[in-house]
Amino acid sequence: MKKEIKTDYYDTFTCIADKCSFTCCQEWKIAVDEDTYLKWNRLSAKQNNNNLDQYVKQKDGTHIIKLNEEKQCPFLNEQKLCKLVLNFGDKILSETCAVFPRQLHEFADRKEYSLVPCCPEVVDLMNQQDKICFTMNMFEMDGDILLQIRTMMITIMQNHHFSISKSVMMIFYILLDIHQKDSVLKKGIDGYKDEAVLKELSDTIDNLQFQSLDTFEENNELFLDMAENYRKQELYTSYLEPIAVIAENLSRDYDRRKMLAHLQKFEQQFSTFEQLFRNYLVAEIFSNSLLPESDLESMVVMIQWIAMEYTMMRHAIFLSWLLGEQEKLSYTVVRNYIIVISRMMGYDQEDIREYLENSFNSLIWEWGYLALLIGAS
Ligand code: SF4
Repeated sequence: MKKEIKTDYYDTFTCIADKCSFTCCQEWKIAVDEDTYLKWNRLSAKQNNNNLDQYVKQKDGTHIIKLNEEKQCPFLNEQKLCKLVLNFGDKILSETCAVFPRQLHEFADRKEYSLVPCCPEVVDLMNQQDKICFTMNMFEMDGDILLQIRTMMITIMQNHHFSISKSVMMIFYILLDIHQKDSVLKKGIDGYKDEAVLKELSDTIDNLQFQSLDTFEENNELFLDMAENYRKQELYTSYLEPIAVIAENLSRDYDRRKMLAHLQKFEQQFSTFEQLFRNYLVAEIFSNSLLPESDLESMVVMIQWIAMEYTMMRHAIFLSWLLGEQEKLSYTVVRNYIIVISRMMGYDQEDIREYLENSFNSLIWEWGYLALLIGAS
C-alpha cells in the first residue's frame, strides 16, 4: 500500500455550503468530466423535463457548466444549496464538484492530499495553524531528489529567522543553482540546509539594494495584465473592478513620496498576517511545486508561479487598503483576495508555462526578476 501524506488539517475540512461567504458555485469554469456528462445525458433521456445537458457547454476541448446571467451555477438554489444534490444525491456531481477543494497527487510510492486556498473554509483553517505540519514526517522520508528539494524549500519557508520575501528569494536562488548543475545528489541538497550556508545567502541578500517603488510598479503592471481577461469577462467584478481602476490610475502617474509612505504603512499592517501567508506558501510548495510528472525545470516554473501568486495577493490587498483610505487591514479583506487571486491563477501546469512564455523573455526568470517582484519587505 502506498504511503499517504496530508497537511494535518486536511481531515478537519467541511464544506459549510449555504453558510459560505464565497461559494465555489459561481464565477468559475466548473468542469464536467466525461463520465458525469454521459450520466447526465442518460438521466435526461429518462426524464424528459430534466435536460441536464442543456446546462453544459464546450470550452477549450472540455465540458463545463454554463453559468447563468449572475455568473452562478444554474444548479445553485436561493438557499445556496445544490439542486442536483437535493434531487439526485451526491453521486450525480461531477468530479470537480465532488472533490473541491481537495487535491490528490498520486506518485509511484505515495499519495499526497492537500486543500486548495480557493475556499474560505480552507483559508480559515490555514489561519488557525501556528505552523503547518504533515501527517507523515517528510523530513525523515527517503525519496527521490525532487522530494528532497521540496522538503528543503518547506524548511526554509518555515524558518522564522528569514522574512517571507527573503525565504522566497533564498529558495529561488538555491533552485536556480541546482538547475544549472548537471546532476545533484542528496548530499548536495543537504548542503543547502546548512545554517552557515543559509546565513551567508541571507547576508548577501541583506546587502543588496531594493527599490520598493520598482517592486510596486512591476506588481501593478502584472496585476493589470492578470486581471485583464477577468475584467473583460466580468468575473469577480465587485472585488476586481474597484482596485483595477486604482491600479490603472497609478500606472499613469503617482506621487512618489506619498506612495513610499503608503507602502511603509501597509507593510506594517500586512505583517500582522505573516503566519497566514507563511502557511499559505508552505501549503502551496507542498501541493503545487512537485507533481507526479514534475522534473526540476517544472519545479522552478512552479516556484515562480507561487511567488507571483503571493505578490499578486499582496498587491491586490494593498490596492484595496488604499481604496479603503488606509483603514486597519481586516482579515476578511485578506481572505477574500487570497480566494480571488487563487481562483484567478489556479491554472494547470501547461497553461502556466504558456502564460510565462508569452509574458516574459524567458520561461525561467533570472534571480533578479523574482527579487524585483517580491521586494525586500
Ligand atoms: S467555497 Fe468551500 S465552503 Fe464554500 S461552498 Fe465551496 S467548498 Fe463549500
